[in-house]
Amino acid sequence: METSTKNLKIEKAKTSKIDQVDFDNLAFGSVFTDHMLVCKYQNGAWELPKIVPYQPINLDPSAKIFHYGQSIFEGMKAYKDENDDVWLFRPFDNHKRLNISAKRMAIPELPEEYFIDGLTALLELDKKWIPKTAGSSLYIRPFVFASGNGLHASPADAYTFIVICAPSAAYFSGKVKVLIEETYSRSANGGVGYAKAGGNYAGQFYPTQLAIEKGYNQVIWTDDNTHEYIEEAGAMNIFVRINDSLITGPTSDRILDGITRKSILEIAKDKGIAVEVRKITVSEVVEAAKNGSLKEMFGAGTAAVVSPIATFGYRGTDYDLPEIPNSYAAMLKKRITDIQYNRDQDKFGWRFKV
Ligand SMILES: *Cc1c(COP(=O)(O)O)cnc(C)c1O
Repeated sequence: METSTKNLKIEKAKTSKIDQVDFDNLAFGSVFTDHMLVCKYQNGAWELPKIVPYQPINLDPSAKIFHYGQSIFEGMKAYKDENDDVWLFRPFDNHKRLNISAKRMAIPELPEEYFIDGLTALLELDKKWIPKTAGSSLYIRPFVFASGNGLHASPADAYTFIVICAPSAAYFSGKVKVLIEETYSRSANGGVGYAKAGGNYAGQFYPTQLAIEKGYNQVIWTDDNTHEYIEEAGAMNIFVRINDSLITGPTSDRILDGITRKSILEIAKDKGIAVEVRKITVSEVVEAAKNGSLKEMFGAGTAAVVSPIATFGYRGTDYDLPEIPNSYAAMLKKRITDIQYNRDQDKFGWRFKV
């Protein structure tokens, strides 16, 4: 399957929208570049991807995505360095995870060349959209959904893979206040929590709305069985620092295998930090907050990279985590973004030049 960018069909936009965009006031994921990548699965095979002007998609009302939610996505970023070179961060891992999600949702797996070459061609075409101000990037959203028709509750016979890109400003999360959830669950054993499946996020909206009404920004999910173990946040894995140990839960059926999470684990080990991958109980975190050994708690994911938690609520009590100097969160964020933006050497081989 020869799919070098040479034989990828490109239909260029007649005019660019870029002059209409206020790059100083970008709301996350609301402005999109001039082009998108589209690839269709029909008659048992993925067709060659093509690039077309960004545009609405036309679907039959019976398309299975609307009725049975067969849809998956990825989240990644393109970074521009000082010399205007463009970089991706561990894109092969995003492709692998897309196919792990695909398999679980009975969606046909996408060939690696279609993902990488298609994305590369799209970024070359829309390169001028990648902002260069500190901390900004181009957010990339690859997704696959059931575009085949029919109300029969079974996998569709046609799928569409699309990649859209949104320039985004540096993400400042502010003081994040989270609620440890004990009633609702994000995922369950044997379920789809490890997949980036659209429905996983829809299911979180209502409990998150309830938490927001109580004054929190986000929910920290616990295990569905006992609600005794900290699992993860909406689209971020969770780390806690007790004394000088950095701890995160093991991935499982219920926890998404975050690329930021695994990169942080490697960077921390490389820096000589004591790292533990093990189950974290809510009671040990509460105990550590009470006795002062809980130094930090933060979320990790592509969008914010590292998002420090200032307060967590549990059973009606709020526990504050005072800001500390030389935090692991700040150090890890700097190290990972220095690699992403090509400001420092990449001994791990994570950077990918577009
Ligand atoms: C995407 C996501 C993450 C973070 O994954 P990254 O690869 O680091 O962006 C963590 N948890 C959930 C539930 C997610 O959807």
